[in-house]
Amino acid sequence: MWALMQAAPVGMPPSSSPSPSPTSASTRASADIRQHEAAVPSNTPKPENAVTVAVSSRVMFRTEREQKVFEQKGVEEYLRYQIEHENEPFAPGPAFPFVKALETVNARLRELYPQSEELFDIVLVTYNHAHVGIRLINTINHHNLFIERFCMTGGSSPIGYLKAWHTNLYLSADADKVREALAEGIAAATMFMPEKLTEVSESQLRVAFDGDAVLFSDESERIFKAHGLDKFFEHERDNEDTLLDHGPLKGFLEALGKLQKKFYAKGQRLDCPIRTYLVTARSAASSGIRALKTLRAWGLEIDEALFLAGAPKGPMLEKIRPHIYFDDQMFHVEGAAEMGTVAAHVPYGIAQKHNPKQKSSVGK
Ligand SMILES: [Mg+2]
Repeated sequence: MWALMQAAPVGMPPSSSPSPSPTSASTRASADIRQHEAAVPSNTPKPENAVTVAVSSRVMFRTEREQKVFEQKGVEEYLRYQIEHENEPFAPGPAFPFVKALETVNARLRELYPQSEELFDIVLVTYNHAHVGIRLINTINHHNLFIERFCMTGGSSPIGYLKAWHTNLYLSADADKVREALAEGIAAATMFMPEKLTEVSESQLRVAFDGDAVLFSDESERIFKAHGLDKFFEHERDNEDTLLDHGPLKGFLEALGKLQKKFYAKGQRLDCPIRTYLVTARSAASSGIRALKTLRAWGLEIDEALFLAGAPKGPMLEKIRPHIYFDDQMFHVEGAAEMGTVAAHVPYGIAQKHNPKQKSSVGK
């Protein structure tokens, strides 16, 4: 499958979907692809060596207008619209600053390790047909992005391809696809169109994680939901030396840690272009020790750990200014988004069984 996808990254959907009939647009697409491929650096990493981040075109770029055409007028009208507008680049979407920051880290890694394949590798995932690929390529060139891999599924699910690509993180606007990816063991999160965006660092990638049901499993969250806060504190104290099980995003933190160590090995710990944060509603004294001991036992260094003891996360995240923040609870995602943070929802664990919009004074 990998060979097939390498051979046909854009011009053909990699599934058994019917191929589009040849048109002047697809001829131009081939020319664009050749031009694009010529610009691909020779050390494009193999997927098993790279940290692969798959991003759907709907969160990478703003495509609301096109979505509306598709929903209101159907697929044929939509394809016609895309071809008519193929020279108009899409505006940046919520994942755009994050992807830009990944590229900044890659540039630093290439300086230090010119031959290494341990880099971020970005895959643009779209359900679209090849006609829309031209507009996407034009957009990528317009924004000076180095996205070398496309996964155009022509309407079918990308999850099988994500596995073949050894995907370390999948970001999408489609919550069902995100759940499907999580069920397959792929770190994944749903992104939303923000109304307000805080400016983020251009030289340092900042990634912030919630603890329970994101880096860790939801076992402690279950105690809290079933028996309340006091029982939760008691449980965490009693189990202080028992490691928490891993959650869906642990692997991505691990991948970030692997790249961070490459900077440390060159004496760039203080100037590392990757910084990670734990932003948890746990409180330091009563339930923080277990979280920190678990991370230490996993061999994962998190640069900053913030124990908020139930305080809202939005104001803290506003100070951190991460490129992305992951949380399993929608009210934290919404609270962060209201203050301008790009927050992504990890639909995993016991919290999904409760009303996702419910407010909680504890905010665990
Ligand atoms: Mg949580």
